[in-house]
Amino acid sequence: MWLPFTQMKDYDENPLVIESGEGVYLRDIYGREYLDGYSSLWLNVHGHRNEEINQAIKDQLDKISHSTLLGATNVPSILLAEKLVSLSPERLKRVFYSDSGATSVEIAIKMAYQYWQNKGRPEKQKFITLQNAYHGDTVGAISVGKVDIFHRVYKTLMFDSLVAPFPDVVHHPDLTDEGEIRERALLDLEAIFQKHHHEIAGMTVESLIQGAGGMNIMPAGYFKGVEQLCRKYEILLIVDEVATGFGRTGKMFAVEHEHVQPDIMTVAKGITGGYLPIAATLTTEEIYEAFYDDYTSLKTFFHGHSYTGNQLGCAAALANLEIYERDGLIGKVQDKTEIIHSLLAPLNEHPHVSSIRQLGMICGIELVQDKISKTPFPWADRIGYWTTIKMRELGMLTRPIGDTIVFMPPLATTEAELAKMIQIMTEAIDITTKEAVGV
Ligand code: PLP
Repeated sequence: MWLPFTQMKDYDENPLVIESGEGVYLRDIYGREYLDGYSSLWLNVHGHRNEEINQAIKDQLDKISHSTLLGATNVPSILLAEKLVSLSPERLKRVFYSDSGATSVEIAIKMAYQYWQNKGRPEKQKFITLQNAYHGDTVGAISVGKVDIFHRVYKTLMFDSLVAPFPDVVHHPDLTDEGEIRERALLDLEAIFQKHHHEIAGMTVESLIQGAGGMNIMPAGYFKGVEQLCRKYEILLIVDEVATGFGRTGKMFAVEHEHVQPDIMTVAKGITGGYLPIAATLTTEEIYEAFYDDYTSLKTFFHGHSYTGNQLGCAAALANLEIYERDGLIGKVQDKTEIIHSLLAPLNEHPHVSSIRQLGMICGIELVQDKISKTPFPWADRIGYWTTIKMRELGMLTRPIGDTIVFMPPLATTEAELAKMIQIMTEAIDITTKEAVGV
């Protein structure tokens, strides 16, 4: 096998084969158990082998596993579309399915692009994105991705996007005041809009927090400001809720924190509780209508995938979302947000932790060589990577982003399990950073 986002030389030195899981634990082929500190890459919600989701998949298996959505539909995909529309911001009324976060973004880009052609404004062809954005790994998605280490090698393969600065309150080169950072970033964005709005189809933006770009949170009011500018300059606002959707941030969708109403919104990951590959691109009636005409007008959205609207996945998603409602899961996430905040607080004092960023149950703990000057560890030392390998030895899995340790446990993690995870993380940070500075 050749693993995603993995240097296989690393894997060969530290292999791991998972065989089973239960609740927030994963078990490898040798029977060793690991706490799932990254929700199996930001997906898992209620833990592994949840009986209700398993049963829903088994029940659906007895009816049918898959039939195409090209020119036909199926029962669970209809029910799920209704549910998604009822849960998402008011303007979003139409659901286009796919099978991963990247495809949901790819679809959003093509939909926005064709929307303007269908509306007779073919000059609106460009996209604008934020510095350090990550939207998945297909060619369209990387073209609006701006994480240098992942994307630079594909430069000539991608289409060009405009890039606006991200208001990074932790790593800003010259400002410290959040309000000033927000206002400067909005001014910079508006300057680009003023110059280019006639040729911009849409703006892609991760909802409130940039995930794979380093777990950086927007200052309050910035997201709302972006929405207002997009409306003012007739630019479609494409919000990526792939990582943040379904409760991770303490709201069903992170847009709710600032009452942002996207024109297009992408969801994936947690939609099935992390069980099966379903994603969706939601949009407004207005955008849908721009594609609705006689076939010969050639306004059809010519995009689809073999497994679009897969019945097993949609059945899993329906069961998943039922548990949210029945258990009041979003309220519980808000309580756990507080618990995590208190449990992580002592790490603020750690000599090699420069910042802890938390939005709901999404956390990034950044490690540095020198806390006062914020001097990073030499990147080639890979302190983040080695810390997570140490965590694995101690019984917990996660992956870093550079030297930022990602902590994103399943939403169902109990207080005792959260405490254990944070204890392991603290111990691993301690051991690895001490070794790095030779103490
Ligand atoms: N968008 C965001 C914000 C993400 O965080 C990710 C994955 O981490 C993606 C898109 C891509 O999703 P997938 O890996 O399902 O293609």
